[in-house]
Amino acid sequence: MKLRFWGVRGSTPTPVAENFRYGGNTSCVEVRSPKGEIIILDCGTGFRSLGKQLLQEYGHRSIEAYVFLSHYHWDHIQGIPFFEPLYNPENCFYFHSFPGHRCTVQQALEEQMSDPYFPVNMSVMEARRQFHNIENETISFKDAVLKTVPLNHPQGCVGFRIESGGSVIVYATDNEPGSAQHDSNVRRLAEGADVLIYDAQYTPLEYVNFKKGWGHSTWREAVNIAKEAQVKQLVLFHHDPDHSDNFLETIVGEAQKFFPNVVAAWEGLEIDISRKEHLHPPDQAERRASNRESFKIPLLVQGKGKDGIPFVEHTTLENLSIRGAYFLLENDPAPDDLLDVEFLGRTNAPDGSPASKLLRPIKSQLIRKYPVELPDKTKHGIAVVFR
Ligand SMILES: [Zn+2]
Ligand SMILES: [Zn+2]
Repeated sequence: MKLRFWGVRGSTPTPVAENFRYGGNTSCVEVRSPKGEIIILDCGTGFRSLGKQLLQEYGHRSIEAYVFLSHYHWDHIQGIPFFEPLYNPENCFYFHSFPGHRCTVQQALEEQMSDPYFPVNMSVMEARRQFHNIENETISFKDAVLKTVPLNHPQGCVGFRIESGGSVIVYATDNEPGSAQHDSNVRRLAEGADVLIYDAQYTPLEYVNFKKGWGHSTWREAVNIAKEAQVKQLVLFHHDPDHSDNFLETIVGEAQKFFPNVVAAWEGLEIDISRKEHLHPPDQAERRASNRESFKIPLLVQGKGKDGIPFVEHTTLENLSIRGAYFLLENDPAPDDLLDVEFLGRTNAPDGSPASKLLRPIKSQLIRKYPVELPDKTKHGIAVVFR
């Protein structure tokens, strides 16, 4: 099985500069079974980007996918109206969740597109859509089995365990610890998982002081579950909207003291379980491999040359990913020293605003360097990941 994270944020999308590395889209995880069946866990705003990728991948071929919604809070359904494959009659989607207190799965999803919340209602989505109440705890696919258990969250929530060919992925988000029944549910669900994706919205201090009863968990509880259930890889998920990239790095550092195989999910993270390739914290080169966007922003780069002499060079950003950047330099930086990469694109931003923080140099580690022939001279193509 393979999985890919399209949205990792909890509660509300947060497209701000300080969340750029981990991403601001809300919950959406794609799982592919060995035979290629598509299983989608939650439809937050990350679902929109998944739709675009599926269109690219399938071209004129029809798309069939199984969609599982942990519950109906906005951060788990808001991508649905913007998921383009739902507007093509050739496609087919099977939505699964539990019925709400006052409505069925179908009603719960149609209501977010009803007048006056959305310009068209769900009937303009021409793809075949089927809605299933999760009543049985186990659902079988061609080459995978999905099991569910109730989690502890306002208005209810379910966690999912997908098993295929001896591999196990567990997705348990929006779960508050402290209820004996649910605590036991989530440990049973996670038993021996290759990958556990778990709600780590708050720090233990935030939880104890301000967030009890809000329906979410902490990295500390995530670690407890991972250890007790003998999980191989823990992925912290559903990041708080107010937790910046730097803050998340701190959380991962804390969590690693108790459980080494832990990462915080970022948009674009892919895990191929059959190849066991991510059953360790991914290295910097892998983090660089996420999607790149082309940007032309002036940069100021400071570092040390191979001769140990410091340099400062103005250049232009060529492209940017969540994890790193690529640009050209005349200087030849030493491979083992960090580079300070300063974005100079928004010098008018008021002090203290999120945009002004962009101007702080981002410590960056060089991962690849090669000569680039330009009409007048040779420069060095520099790929870095942000630290
Ligand atoms: Zn949520
Ligand atoms: Zn929720």
